Amino acid sequence: MSTQAKVVLVGAGHAHLHVAAHADALAEAGASVTLVDPGTFWYSGRATGMLGGRFAPEDDQIDPRAVVENHGGAFVAGHVETVDRERQRLHLADGQTLAYDWLSFNVGSGVNSSAIDGCTAEANCWPVKPIANLAPLRTTLSRAFAAGEAPAVAVVGGGNTGCEIAANIAALARRHAPTDARPAIRLLQGGDTFAPSLPASAGKRLADKLAALGIDVQYNRRITERRDGELICDDGEHIAAAHVVIATGLVAPQWLAHLGLAFDDGLVVDDTLRSVDDPQVFAVGDCAHIRGHALARLGVFGVRQAPVLLANLLAGLRGQALENYEPQSKWLSILDLGDGTGLASRGQRWWLGRSSVWLKHWLDRRFIESYRPR
Ligand SMILES: Cc1cc2nc3c(=O)[nH]c(=O)nc-3n(C[C@H](O)[C@H](O)[C@H](O)COP(=O)(O)OP(=O)(O)OC[C@H]3O[C@@H](n4cnc5c(N)ncnc54)[C@H](O)[C@@H]3O)c2cc1C
Repeated sequence: MSTQAKVVLVGAGHAHLHVAAHADALAEAGASVTLVDPGTFWYSGRATGMLGGRFAPEDDQIDPRAVVENHGGAFVAGHVETVDRERQRLHLADGQTLAYDWLSFNVGSGVNSSAIDGCTAEANCWPVKPIANLAPLRTTLSRAFAAGEAPAVAVVGGGNTGCEIAANIAALARRHAPTDARPAIRLLQGGDTFAPSLPASAGKRLADKLAALGIDVQYNRRITERRDGELICDDGEHIAAAHVVIATGLVAPQWLAHLGLAFDDGLVVDDTLRSVDDPQVFAVGDCAHIRGHALARLGVFGVRQAPVLLANLLAGLRGQALENYEPQSKWLSILDLGDGTGLASRGQRWWLGRSSVWLKHWLDRRFIESYRPR
């Protein structure tokens, strides 16, 4: 019988890709590493560029199996459904069970569309997560545009993601649609400002830019229902839309609330990224709530948590003290506006232009290539 400690990584999110790429270091510390994931990591940094037609879907993907197996770990294709913490076993949707000694969650987030009745795939509603959704959306829209149809598209949610999505649907239309058959693209924001996480002056500049790209930005549009090819607002207004992209914010997967661990829109962890209730369990990225911090749901945080998670798994295996993760107070965010320009911001500083999107594409390529075989 093996005496190796079993480290099981659930979800090939940003931080787990890093840990998987260091499975050999964990093996040296006496552990076996197993990564469980449905099978493909879609990189959100390139998601809107893929939607807009600049990148092929495969340019936006990483193969997590290859990452972990190339470093001596094991891969299990599947979807974890529940955890029996008493017996230290994971249960997967296909009936498999897996034993663990150390467990880490990096399963991302989903879209909160609960406020919109009738918001289903059959009604052509497309949540922005999982990112994989955006590939069939691109195919569907490209076909319609190329056939000379001009289906009206509504993007619900005027945060950074909604803005980028709307701009890239406009880019896709420019690529495929004849100039006399451009679709109506509406960006519907619930409040009276949009892209609220940007400096106010950047938000205004972005609104002008989107208008110049032909996007109809509407404020105070709180959508309550999707019915008969329309969106219905709380003031009774109806908005026609053949396709609806839902970008209303990200929430942690609800099944994590049933593990018997503290959960507050994410598994509650301390500064060492360890569950406040179970010292054998870690959580990182969008599915974690770091006690005392209200972090935006961004991949950049998962990337910065990655080395701390790896160090703390190693420290746990060796019985050493864990280190703290300190979230950065400012970070670089770059929106790809689909027309060869981008809007970059960091704290209160921002700039819009070609250099921003060039930098974004360079950073994104560097990330993806770091996980591909050389
Ligand atoms: C359109 C769009 C654009 C964005 N652009 C940016 C950007 O430019 N920069 C940025 O920093 N952030 C961006 N974000 C936010 C970003 O997507 C998330 O914050 C980020 O993906 C979270 O990373 P993560 O590592 O927590 O999980 P993810 O990257 O979401 O990875 C989670 C993994 O877990 C797997 N998984 C899920 N459930 C299970 C399960 N039950 N069992 C096993 N595996 C499971 C998933 O298949 C996936 O592979 C964007 C979001 C969207 C929607």
